[in-house]
Amino acid sequence: MKLFFFFFLVINSRLIFGQTSVVKGALIDQITREPYLFERIELIGTGQKVNSGVEGEFLFDSLTPGRYHIYIKNKYVDDFSQDVNYWFNVTGNDTTTIIVEATLLCVYDEHKNDKRCPECHKKNEVIPMSYGLLIGGIQKKHGKEVFHDGGCEITGCDPHWYCRRDHTKF
Ligand SMILES: [Zn+2]
Repeated sequence: MKLFFFFFLVINSRLIFGQTSVVKGALIDQITREPYLFERIELIGTGQKVNSGVEGEFLFDSLTPGRYHIYIKNKYVDDFSQDVNYWFNVTGNDTTTIIVEATLLCVYDEHKNDKRCPECHKKNEVIPMSYGLLIGGIQKKHGKEVFHDGGCEITGCDPHWYCRRDHTKF
């Protein structure tokens, strides 16, 4: 009886407040099609903000029909023209599916496969960065470190290399 009453209320509230929609989305890279994880996604004007999940997925609910604006700050580039703005329509359907293609760049990614130091333009003093706990501390060879300790926290956009000559991380 209680359950029946609950369902009655749900159905009734839908009739009173009108039909609302759920939007299921995925945030992926425009070129590689790889998902963007843990990005802050904001639905302008609704107060709804979510983080994308491990497969780039996100969800907004309780949307009435209309036009909506998704905004994602590009935290890797200090230039607002690189932020993501995406518009979509919600019709009377229960579920709307969208795929947001974006180019969010990490400034360190261009160096991932290139250990040439941007300061001295040489490779001979460049060593890899190391993240997480180093067992037994920093390893040394001839009194010089062979990995540079980047600490335990990774942000998703971290340097790959360290130049021992001019102490540059890149
Ligand atoms: Zn250097």
